Amino acid sequence: MCLICDRIEMIKKGSNPYFVKELETGYVVIGDNQHFYGYTLFLYKHHGDKTELFHLESGEQALFMKEMSVVAEAVSKAFGAEKMNYELLGMGDAHLHWHLYPRRNGDIGDYGNHGKGPVWWYPMEKMYSDDNRPDGVQLSDMKQKLLIELDKLLEN
Ligand SMILES: [Zn+2]
Repeated sequence: MCLICDRIEMIKKGSNPYFVKELETGYVVIGDNQHFYGYTLFLYKHHGDKTELFHLESGEQALFMKEMSVVAEAVSKAFGAEKMNYELLGMGDAHLHWHLYPRRNGDIGDYGNHGKGPVWWYPMEKMYSDDNRPDGVQLSDMKQKLLIELDKLLEN
């Protein structure tokens, strides 16, 4: 089974501690690891055979993009990004899901091009270290911050 579908099932059962909010096309969840503080994912609701952005019907595609952009703005405001990074990958799980990374100067140390470059130039074992998993208190603080910003943007 797909890891993203697993996580969505947990949301539906009320047992996903990372879940922040349901939008029309997807679910907002805080990332498991927080080296890039505020790292958030936006999980498309459906799996099936729609595994590329260009597979979506145009209205759905536009809404998915629009909602992702709202989530990115909320993440940026909630966690104080200098710049947002957006990734739609899916070689691990082909289920459409956005990775939204708040970036800050110096956040990859001296890796990459003298500290400049994409998140994947930071070593995977550091990025996914258990040391940067939020505890229960940190997680609920992050969820609350993000939800406040999301609700502000969605009211407009
Ligand atoms: Zn899936």
